[in-house]
Amino acid sequence: MRDRFGRDINYLRISLTDRCNLRCEYCMPEDGIKNKIPHEDMLSLEELYEITKAFVDLGISKIRFTGGEPLVRYGAVEFIKKVNALEGVREVTLTTNGIMLNDYLDELLDAGVKRLNISLDTLDPEKYKKITRGGDIHRVLTAIENARAKGIKPIKINTVLIGGFNDDEIPKMLEMTRDGSMDVRFIELMPIGEAAGFAKSKFISNEEILRRVPQLVAVEREDPSSPATYYRLPGGKGKVGLINPISCKFCTNCNRVRLTATGKLKLCLHSNREIDLKKVLREGRDLQEEISEAILTKEEEHHLEDQEYISRNMNQIGG
Ligand code: SAM
Ligand code: SF4
Repeated sequence: MRDRFGRDINYLRISLTDRCNLRCEYCMPEDGIKNKIPHEDMLSLEELYEITKAFVDLGISKIRFTGGEPLVRYGAVEFIKKVNALEGVREVTLTTNGIMLNDYLDELLDAGVKRLNISLDTLDPEKYKKITRGGDIHRVLTAIENARAKGIKPIKINTVLIGGFNDDEIPKMLEMTRDGSMDVRFIELMPIGEAAGFAKSKFISNEEILRRVPQLVAVEREDPSSPATYYRLPGGKGKVGLINPISCKFCTNCNRVRLTATGKLKLCLHSNREIDLKKVLREGRDLQEEISEAILTKEEEHHLEDQEYISRNMNQIGG
């Protein structure tokens, strides 16, 4: 599926739910989602399958499941397995906070998940409890250990850096990349949703990481559509990714679109524009035709620097 700038759109990120079992300070309000989505506005898994199949028939070959926390959606793992079995699907992956991961590890492997992105902002149990408002880090660490033992490789750890909170842990996090079983990716805090009120001083730029860890060695870009720039520690086998969602312009190689749990197609993470595929499906209109038309309107590039912030929180978009 090509857009009008010649980009091959082959990657779909599906948010299975906007609900989550954690309340990360920069992502979700403390008391949970303010405007809970009415049940009828959520796509059922059957509807989601129909829409996903239309995307796959149009050429989507890689699908990432995210959220909210994807594993809190009832039936998520069976759904992933069903999607993985669609002809044309090359890869299914998952972005998770890891809290329920251990419970589903074998089923996920059986469903076809070979790679995992796990969010972990700190290695300190108390700090983890604070930033996630109550999470138990031991559950995540156990899941990581077991995922490693079962051969999932690489496991990508996603860490949002917050000045004065976890930037002192950069060296410790980097050490996790030594043996090659894990990559660590530092994500700059995005001033959207809950993080819109965060002080400027809390934003740690990629340049700041490179200044503090000058020994990092740049590695050649394997995937031009990846938002991360990759480095390695000298002698380290795993990669260190730096992701700057704001100033980094990987737009020319962007190959992805997003689908929310309510069936809204988002052509660009940084745009508020959405196309209602739930309506298309429920009105019996031609999904493939309308998706193809929508792809032709995908933005050439994002302009987040011009905006105050995007109104939705990340738990609704899926990151
Ligand atoms: N719940 C899952 C998790 O935490 O991995 C999947 C969804 S979560 C929205 C996906 C990613 O978005 C996480 O790595 C999270 O840290 C990141 N994220 C959420 N809010 C963010 C923000 N304001 N700036 C940067 N990253 C953010
Ligand atoms: Fe939940 Fe992920 Fe948002 Fe944390 S970052 S509140 S785990 S959706």
